[in-house]
Amino acid sequence: QVTIVGSSNVDITALMRRLPGPGETVLADSYQLSPGGKGANQALAAQLAGAATEFIGAVGNDSHADIALGQLKDAQVVLDRVARSAKPTGVAIIQVDSAAENSIAVVSGANATVDSDAVAEAGQLHGIVVLQGEIPASGITAAMDAATGRVVLNLAPVIELDRAHLLAANPLVVNEHEAALILQQLDASDAPTNDAEPVIAQRLLEHGLASVVITLGANGCLVAERGAPIQQLPAIKVKAVDTTGAGDAFTGALAARLAHGDSLAQAAGFAGRFAALTVQGHGAQSSYPRHLADI
Ligand code: ADP
Repeated sequence: QVTIVGSSNVDITALMRRLPGPGETVLADSYQLSPGGKGANQALAAQLAGAATEFIGAVGNDSHADIALGQLKDAQVVLDRVARSAKPTGVAIIQVDSAAENSIAVVSGANATVDSDAVAEAGQLHGIVVLQGEIPASGITAAMDAATGRVVLNLAPVIELDRAHLLAANPLVVNEHEAALILQQLDASDAPTNDAEPVIAQRLLEHGLASVVITLGANGCLVAERGAPIQQLPAIKVKAVDTTGAGDAFTGALAARLAHGDSLAQAAGFAGRFAALTVQGHGAQSSYPRHLADI
């Protein structure tokens, strides 16, 4: 079982030849509404990777709520503890130009209500518990306290968390930029760091983390566990067309395999294969593989 507490959004993506400057209007070619938010993306990935998954979060009393949760519902992710907020469903307003350059404004909306009170109301969190940085820090720490099992913390974006909770992640799953930021958060004298990723992983372990996974895009990932040599797992070679949501696919699939009983390295290997499939299709949730036989 996997329980994910986090964000769900509607991504409003407009495609245009070039991005408007301040005060300027440009005519866009088309737009799309699609479900997103790291929490929801990871919940879909965990469910599609074979775990019975529950998503806990908040959406508004608006028509975007159905879009935000639509794919999760279709995939039969448990949504009983998703709250309806007086705030609107979170949205990401995304502008993309013909060179794939983008500018993005995120309105947290209902996601900002997933705080310690909301998590306390949800009660105990069972199985592998997965958290990200798109809800208030008080919601993250309350969820860690309510977890009855192992906590996978994907602190993206990197937000301020107290040291004890940060170090309770097992594993912390982050990309190379986030890993360097978190190292600085743990030890200001480490800033700024230009160290290679294995050194950063090693230092995170020395600060007290039991395990760390650092994702490296097309270079795969690093798996670091206390008392074991650091392993670098290469990515599968694929033709990448859109890497949106790849990190979320990785984290959700990793959690699903940990719930299944895999070792961290086995789970990361599977997550890498799962994520590699997603970069070959457009979009986030729509690119996630529906048939496990593909992996
Ligand atoms: P984020 O988007 O959070 O920075 P990454 O870019 O590190 O995350 O991607 C997460 C994982 O997705 C990687 O560890 C890898 O397994 C997979 N992945 C991402 N990009 C590619 C790619 N071009 N080819 C193969 N796998 C990829």
